Amino acid sequence: MARRVALVTGGSRGIGAAIARRLASDGMDVGITYEHAVHRAAETVAAVKAVGARGTAVAAPATDPAALAGAVDHVVATFGRLDVLVNNAGIAVYGPLEAVTLEDLDRALAVHVRACFVLAQAAVRHMGEGGRVINIGSSLAERVPYPGWTLYAMSKSALSGLTKGLARDLGPRGITANLVHPGSTDTEMNPADGPDAEEERQYTALNRYCTPDDIAATVAHLAGDGGRNITGAAIAVDAGTTA
Ligand code: NDP
Repeated sequence: MARRVALVTGGSRGIGAAIARRLASDGMDVGITYEHAVHRAAETVAAVKAVGARGTAVAAPATDPAALAGAVDHVVATFGRLDVLVNNAGIAVYGPLEAVTLEDLDRALAVHVRACFVLAQAAVRHMGEGGRVINIGSSLAERVPYPGWTLYAMSKSALSGLTKGLARDLGPRGITANLVHPGSTDTEMNPADGPDAEEERQYTALNRYCTPDDIAATVAHLAGDGGRNITGAAIAVDAGTTA
């Protein structure tokens, strides 16, 4: 049987890199996108290849729809197919409500909403039965326990409608769409020893951060055969932050 192929956006670091490594370990070939971190992207590709999978990386700023479509084309041209899209690339935009600029607003919506729609639209053209779209949201889309995150929470909550709509649009073709909501996860975006970490930990039920591998494990379940009858769902991997 041909190896399945995944495209993971923002795979150069953090959660996206963990997802790329995990899907490769599970037997998929993996393409990743990144914005700037070419050397980090190369490290992820090396890790993917180290477990016997094929890997490729392509620069595709999430604010550039043509580059996103190009990333899908690149993966299909390189590996001959596309089975799994993971919309993971994201940015932390936060601060006092009054300080949010129109530029901030446009960028957050471009990265967290428009890019995910554009990529899903381009990717599913290549998918058949067993295809998967997995969006990475945030626990802040479900519950906002502190001020300063209105724009981020709003942008991530749009993925709920995207996921449910895709589940209905794509169900007849045997393609699933799901949403994974990480809670505080130890990455460069949100280090477990950062200035806000102790407060964030206190919002969890388990009194701990998630690791990128925790998020990757749930993505892998949804991407694999175990996820065949899960669609339109939102799954929190947040150590109980939204409990
Ligand atoms: P990191 O900041 O560690 O990594 C972000 C990744 O996204 C990098 O690969 C980066 O590429 C890429 N990226 C950022 N902006 C763009 C862009 N404009 N175009 C293309 N790629 C881009 O973040 P995390 O791993 O922590 O976060 C991954 C996802 O999980 C995000 O959607 C985030 O919102 C979400 N999340 C994270 C949480 C956390 O606590 N860490 C909690 C809840 C949700 P490059 O390396 O080139 O910059």
